[in-house]
Amino acid sequence: MTDRSTDVWGTRTPHARDTAWPVRVDQHLDAVDDADVDRWVQSACVLCSNGCACDIAVKDGRMVGVRGRAGDRVNHGRLGPKGLYASWQWSDQDRLTRPLVRENGELVATSWDRAMSTIVDRSRQTPALGHGFYTSGQLFLEEYYTLGVIGKAGLGTPHMDGNTRLCTATAAAALKESFGSDGQPGSYTDIDSCDAIFLFGHNMAETQTVLWSRVLDRMHGPDRPQVVAVDPRSTRVTEAARATGGVHLAPLPGTNQALMNGLLREILTNDWIDTRYVAEHTLGLDELVTTVDEYPPERVAEICGIDAGDLCRAAEIFGTTERVLSTVLQGFYQSHQATAAACQVNNLHLLRGMIGRPGCGVLQMNGQPTAQNTRECGADGDLPGFRNWNNPDHIDDLARLWNVDPLVIPHWAPPTHAMQLWRYVEQETIDFLWISATNPAVSLPQLPRIREILSRPDLFLVVQDGFLTETAQYADVVLPAAMWGEKQGTFTNATRTVHLSEQAVEPPGEARSDLDIFLDYARRMDFRDRDGQPLISWKDPEGAFEAWKECSRGRPCDYGGLTYELLRGDSGIPWPCTAEQPRGTDRLYTDGVFVTDPDQCEDYGHDLLTGGSTTPEEYRSSRPDGRAFLKAAPYTEPPETASADFPLICTTGRIVHHFHTRTKTGRSRRLREAAPSVWVELAAGDAERLGLADGDRVRVESARGAVEGPARIGAGRPGVVFIPFHYGYWDAADGHEPDGSPTAANELTLSDWDPVSKQPLFKIAAVRIAKLPED
Ligand code: SF4
Repeated sequence: MTDRSTDVWGTRTPHARDTAWPVRVDQHLDAVDDADVDRWVQSACVLCSNGCACDIAVKDGRMVGVRGRAGDRVNHGRLGPKGLYASWQWSDQDRLTRPLVRENGELVATSWDRAMSTIVDRSRQTPALGHGFYTSGQLFLEEYYTLGVIGKAGLGTPHMDGNTRLCTATAAAALKESFGSDGQPGSYTDIDSCDAIFLFGHNMAETQTVLWSRVLDRMHGPDRPQVVAVDPRSTRVTEAARATGGVHLAPLPGTNQALMNGLLREILTNDWIDTRYVAEHTLGLDELVTTVDEYPPERVAEICGIDAGDLCRAAEIFGTTERVLSTVLQGFYQSHQATAAACQVNNLHLLRGMIGRPGCGVLQMNGQPTAQNTRECGADGDLPGFRNWNNPDHIDDLARLWNVDPLVIPHWAPPTHAMQLWRYVEQETIDFLWISATNPAVSLPQLPRIREILSRPDLFLVVQDGFLTETAQYADVVLPAAMWGEKQGTFTNATRTVHLSEQAVEPPGEARSDLDIFLDYARRMDFRDRDGQPLISWKDPEGAFEAWKECSRGRPCDYGGLTYELLRGDSGIPWPCTAEQPRGTDRLYTDGVFVTDPDQCEDYGHDLLTGGSTTPEEYRSSRPDGRAFLKAAPYTEPPETASADFPLICTTGRIVHHFHTRTKTGRSRRLREAAPSVWVELAAGDAERLGLADGDRVRVESARGAVEGPARIGAGRPGVVFIPFHYGYWDAADGHEPDGSPTAANELTLSDWDPVSKQPLFKIAAVRIAKLPED
């Protein structure tokens, strides 16, 4: 096999529309041959939201390789560079092998008993509302559900969220606002059947490389789809748009909502709509028509800094192509008016009746591999099983299931979102903060502020991770966690496909699975139900999965028909999976009936402009009756724009060789060598004006902080700077904060968020750039 860190998407396997994506099995073994492998253990990759199925090669009790699973519906055998070169290569490097506690300012090794006793003693001294839990998009379903029950029925704290707030909160919010509930409508098989693909703020070529291989294989086939890309940068996706006769729209950061209103206006004024579908399956058309009428192409062109003809051409492709697939990701989710703009993508599909049919899906994507489970299981602000915190029947339902008083379950106000949770820590309302499998000291916005919060002297901070991350270095107690391949559990990808990941090897030293840690805490806290029985009765992953099945039964994410045994088959299985649909469900809403019944819906919705909540009474009186909402919002100017002091707009994002804060990918030799350090991308015109050449070291400053690195002169739009957000400090001299040459993009970003999804705005920091003196 070629070096896939450079040959990122591998060999093409072209195919025609409505034919199956051919199988291509990718494999990488480290210093062993096939014949040396003792056994292959079933799993799936956890380095992005795609969820590519794989087998882990084990030799002498160590992970030594990985290969794609040919029969799986997600990847048909393929793996990308991260899956091949960063799945296990971190496993025996500088791992945490013993618990640590802080003594006289230093973290020192201790026993599990002392570490857990310290946590439990402090927890018992802290009122329920003084507890905060900040988790991840990288644990397993069983771990999230257990954490959700601990928080919501054991302690009764609403202060729980995940770093999924940073990556997929808007996907969930947009699905709830339009369709009544979270749950991906479309399927990856839509790529095999579509005639056009619209990528809204989604650099799929770098963020989900195997999914992009699927698109490339259609592009190289006989009846290739046209690609339309919305992205202020120039990427492989925008190149594909040009190559297929599609369109690259490069709006100024923060103007997506104006662009979407312009596209919708063109669709409506040209009557490219499915009138019968709209009449029977949607409500809200009149307000949508009135709102978008204010956005003729010329006005949109001026706001967004694009060509009006390009906008019209993109609308024509959407309006006149038989089957259109749309995907949405961080260019929309992490920008201004995130939920509003993501909902307009749903609106485009609803207007054309393109939901629930082959080739016509919406993919409101996820960022992290198990983000879907954080949302489903109640480990973030949501209630388990997509239940509605504002519906007393849903609270009673959970209280019955858990056999607790309904009043224990926090539902007197909306759940605490991550940005508010961190504010509560800052204000000393939350004194006990437990962080699992995430690294906010690099991934949250405005890092100088986050470091101050983590340094609060009387904050009791628990960090549970596989490594001594930048965040763990602030902790009072550090718990060594088993990681992928070292524990068992399930997880669900961006298209609802559930995979079982088996334990392949023993965790290092005394490291324990996150599930075992949460169960130990629950046992020591002696959480009980109404009958005095232990609140949490399960003791292992499969027991937790069975309990979760009961929680999900009858809800949109019904796992009732799944078992570990079933998941040991050839392929992952997409929920809902029930007795009636024993092999799962490829796409949702095939009958045009949405989850908007007031008794079923996950949320009563919001005003997309202000975030104001719709009351239950208002919602009921709208009589949705299973119809989807065409939600509208005008464009507003972003909270931060270019100024005389800070004349450029910085967007942050991912690159192909790294994931998150490089905890795993930074420990892969190949990926580290392919992308060793931060860089600053700026447009050729801006570079010329600033007197910068490729490779010059520059300092980028916002009102909040600075980043330093070499300049890369790109082909992006003038006025826009891009910095990858992966580069923190764990591998730098100091280990947890900048030592004079800051590299974390979030030094620059601002603490502001979307009013509906509460997702932070990572894409619109105003900055200035200056050349640094040569050494
Ligand atoms: S596309 Fe994502 S899930 Fe698939 S191998 Fe690459 S990183 Fe892993």
